[in-house]
Amino acid sequence: MTTLFPRLSPADVESLEQAARAVDAARADGDKAEWEWALDHVVFPGPQPWTPIVLLGLDVIEHADGRDQLEFLLQVVWTDFGQLAVDAAVNVACWCDTNHASHDVDTLRLVVGEETSLPRAFQAGAERVIGWLTDPRDADFWRARAALPPRQPV
Ligand SMILES: [Zn+2]
Repeated sequence: MTTLFPRLSPADVESLEQAARAVDAARADGDKAEWEWALDHVVFPGPQPWTPIVLLGLDVIEHADGRDQLEFLLQVVWTDFGQLAVDAAVNVACWCDTNHASHDVDTLRLVVGEETSLPRAFQAGAERVIGWLTDPRDADFWRARAALPPRQPV
């Protein structure tokens, strides 16, 4: 954490670690998703329109079955403008006539700035993900909520 976020105080680092541990504790038994981080993104590398610039992230795959999938993501990213942001998202496999691969059906983005510190944004993102993990539903629930077509029989 101190390498990824060299400007944070020890108290802020502790706050991030606590929030990350709370997310870990909310994950279902046997779920082996790991936190990943990118030390080459510690310094903003400039905008990269087609790929999110992720510093730290967790991708919990709640369900994966052939083409179907339900994932919960929590990420610290760079925005195109070089600001840190915390993203939380529910991602489901796509069953539209046109195959888009997947959709983010519920998202939260908190941009870090004067009014929102990174620890506060991360805490809010973590709480959102913990809420999802505590009551994950299934992929069709999330597709229905987003008015997307349900899983089709193969
Ligand atoms: Zn689609």
